Amino acid sequence: MPYAIDETHDPNLKSWVESANDPQSDFPIQNLPLCSVLGSVEDEPEAVSAHIGVRIGDMILVLDALVQHGLLEETEDDWWVFVEDIAESGQTGNLRKRLQHLLREGNNELRDHPQLDEMLFPVSEVELSTPILASGDYTDFYASINHATNVGSMFRPDNPLLPNYKHIPIGYHGRASSIVPSGTRIKRPVGQQAPDEGARTPNFGPCKLLDYEMEMGAIIGRGNELGSRIPIEEAEDHILGMCILNDWSARDLQKWEYQPLGPFLAKNFASTVSPYIVTMEALAPFRCAGAVRPEGDPQPLPYMTSEDNSKAGGVDITLEVWLASAQMREQGMEPIKLSTGNFRDMYWTMAQMVAHHSVNGCNMQPGDLLGSGTVSGTTRESRGSLLELTWDGDPFANPPKLVPGTQRTPIKLPTGEERKFIADGDEIIMKAYCEREGYRRIGFGECRGIIEPADLG
Ligand code: CA
Repeated sequence: MPYAIDETHDPNLKSWVESANDPQSDFPIQNLPLCSVLGSVEDEPEAVSAHIGVRIGDMILVLDALVQHGLLEETEDDWWVFVEDIAESGQTGNLRKRLQHLLREGNNELRDHPQLDEMLFPVSEVELSTPILASGDYTDFYASINHATNVGSMFRPDNPLLPNYKHIPIGYHGRASSIVPSGTRIKRPVGQQAPDEGARTPNFGPCKLLDYEMEMGAIIGRGNELGSRIPIEEAEDHILGMCILNDWSARDLQKWEYQPLGPFLAKNFASTVSPYIVTMEALAPFRCAGAVRPEGDPQPLPYMTSEDNSKAGGVDITLEVWLASAQMREQGMEPIKLSTGNFRDMYWTMAQMVAHHSVNGCNMQPGDLLGSGTVSGTTRESRGSLLELTWDGDPFANPPKLVPGTQRTPIKLPTGEERKFIADGDEIIMKAYCEREGYRRIGFGECRGIIEPADLG
C-alpha cells in the first residue's frame, strides 16, 4: 500500500499540547489533520494571514507562521499549490514527521519559542473554512449497495438495483459552489414537487421531505492530465485525505426531477463538510479489506482490480449521526444519536472510484472532492439517511419486503416531538472516528448544520 504504518503511528507518542493527550480527543499527535484558516485572531492580525493549519488537541498550528519563524521549510504561499506540491513529491509524510517532531513531548524547540503565540492558537479563536479549494470540482458517488438497494426499493419497488450497479461505481457531477463549512446555517430549499394524484400541474413550495446523507469525502491531492487515466495501483497516491460530508437532500424535489438525468436541485442547495482533512498517512493503521462481494456477484473489471485494493482498499471509520431540535436545545437537552454506520461496508472503494472517474481521460485536480455516497449498513441502526431510518421496508428479508416510501415510522425525540424528515430549527451533527486495538484513536471532528425556514420570496 502507498501509505505504510510507521513510527508516526506509535500509540505511546504524546504531545506537550496537553489537550492532545486526552484519550477521547479526535486530534492526538498521531492524527495532525490539515485545515484552512480564515481571517485573523484578535490582537494578532498578522500571525494568521496564513492559510494552512494543522489541528492538535484544542489548538491550531499555523504552518505559514512556522515557515516565517524558520521552523518549517519554505513552501508556496497558496495552500493548494502547497498541497499539490507535497502530494506530487510525496512530502506529506515528511511534513507529518516534521510536525510530529515539533509537537512531541520532550521537544521544547517550538514549545519554548518566544513567538509561540504567533504560531499556535486555540481553535475557539480561529475561523475555519472548508478544507477544499473553492473552485474544486465535486463528484458524488453512490457506493453503498445497502443504501442503493434501500432507496431503489422506495423509488422503484419492482426494480430496486439497476443492472449496472455491480459493474460501475455510480456517480454524478455535483455543485462545488454550494459546499459550505461545518456550522453554516442551511436554508430549506423551495422547488417543484410531483403533482398530487389526479392533478396535472406539479406542486411548488418549501421542501417537505428534507433529509441528510452521511457520507465521507475524499480530497484529491495530485491530479492527472486530461486524456490520461489513473491506474488503480496509483489511485491512492492521488488522494490527500478524507473529511465528513453531509449531502443534504430534498427528497420530494428529487423524486420529481431525478429521471432521466439524475440529481439536480434536490442536492445542490448545500453540502456541508467537516473542516479537517485527515491525511491518508494518518489513516494507515485503520485500513481493511473492502466489503466482500456475495457469491455470484460479478468481479470488477481489471481496471478496478488490484491486490492492494482487495486486501486493504477499505477504511474502518465509525460514522455517527446526531440530531438536536430547536426545542431540545432550548430545554438544554443533549442531541440524540440517530445512527451508527461504518465506512468499511462500502461496495466500492475510494481507489476504485478514482480509477473509474479517470478511465475515460477525465482529469482530477487538486482540491476536488469525491463524495462516497450515503454510508448504510445492513441493519436499521446503520442506515445513513432519514429516508432509510424511518422506512419500514426490509430489502434484506427473503423474499424482499418492499413497502412504499410513504409508510414511515417516525423517530421520537425526548421532547415528545416526532421526526420523519428534518424540521426547521433541527441541527444535524455528524461525527467520524477510527479505533483499532494497539493504535491511538483518531477522529474527523464534526460536521454540523442547522436548518432555517425556507425563503418564500
Ligand atoms: Ca449523496
